[in-house]
Amino acid sequence: MKMFDLSGRIAIVTGGNRGIGFSISRGLAEAGATVVIANRHAEEGEKAAASLLGAGLKAVAIPLDVTSDASIQKMTAEVVRKFGKIDILVNNAGIVIRKKAEDYTPQDWEAIMNTNLRGMFFCCQEVGREMMRQGKGKIINIGSVVSVVAQSERGVYAISKAGVAHLTRSLALEWAKYRINVNAIGPGATLTDINRTYLKEHPEVLQAFINDIPMGRIGHPDDCAGAAVFLASDASDFITGQLILIDGGMTIH
Ligand code: NDP
Repeated sequence: MKMFDLSGRIAIVTGGNRGIGFSISRGLAEAGATVVIANRHAEEGEKAAASLLGAGLKAVAIPLDVTSDASIQKMTAEVVRKFGKIDILVNNAGIVIRKKAEDYTPQDWEAIMNTNLRGMFFCCQEVGREMMRQGKGKIINIGSVVSVVAQSERGVYAISKAGVAHLTRSLALEWAKYRINVNAIGPGATLTDINRTYLKEHPEVLQAFINDIPMGRIGHPDDCAGAAVFLASDASDFITGQLILIDGGMTIH
């Protein structure tokens, strides 16, 4: 369908090499976009890009550490040099540290906030400046169900993700006049490297998640791809500042 067609669009996906980021990268590429996979470990990014290329899709890898301002500037400049523009930015890179609130250290706080919130803001700013010059752009920030509800033993992570929801609204408000749409996706519990070992070691937590989800299963990374394509496409041109929860109904009750 033409309104979802991303042919000719250039999309950056931070942390696009695995998990939810890779599913989103593949979804955008299947819709026609050229995807820039931007994560820290260059060889993993290259491998992910190669697997998309092998499927007849368009992708390149450019290393990025979202905690480094210089790295954000370098990656953005390289994309513009290579492709001449940036149409879509998916801010997906994220980390979690699970602790009781009373046990978090200042170092934990900085690590989580620098990646999930500070890194996201400055990726938006750097790429947003380019989108302003172009007069159009789509930014999609990956939040979480914990952007809107609390969960035990991941308090600082949840605070960072609540920040993602408001960062999204703030930028959407300021940048609407540049025709830049800024929206967020909030996945529910989804099996990826971020929680695979933890959920294996804590099957009771996995079961509690499933019990809480009306659709009766936890998420698959591919569950987020459709919403990302929608928010990246012309089909969502009048939608901005919104958070779409993809959680099998977890936050209904
Ligand atoms: P993964 O651990 O599988 O992927 C995280 C990705 O982020 C990797 O590609 C990693 O690549 C990249 N990354 C981490 N730090 C940086 C950094 N400093 N700079 C650039 N890239 C970085 O996790 P998920 O796929 O599960 O998570 C993706 C997003 O979805 C995150 O924002 C997460 O918070 C969110 N989310 C996940 C949920 C889940 O249950 N899985 C639920 C709700 C939200 P590399 O290490 O090479 O840099």
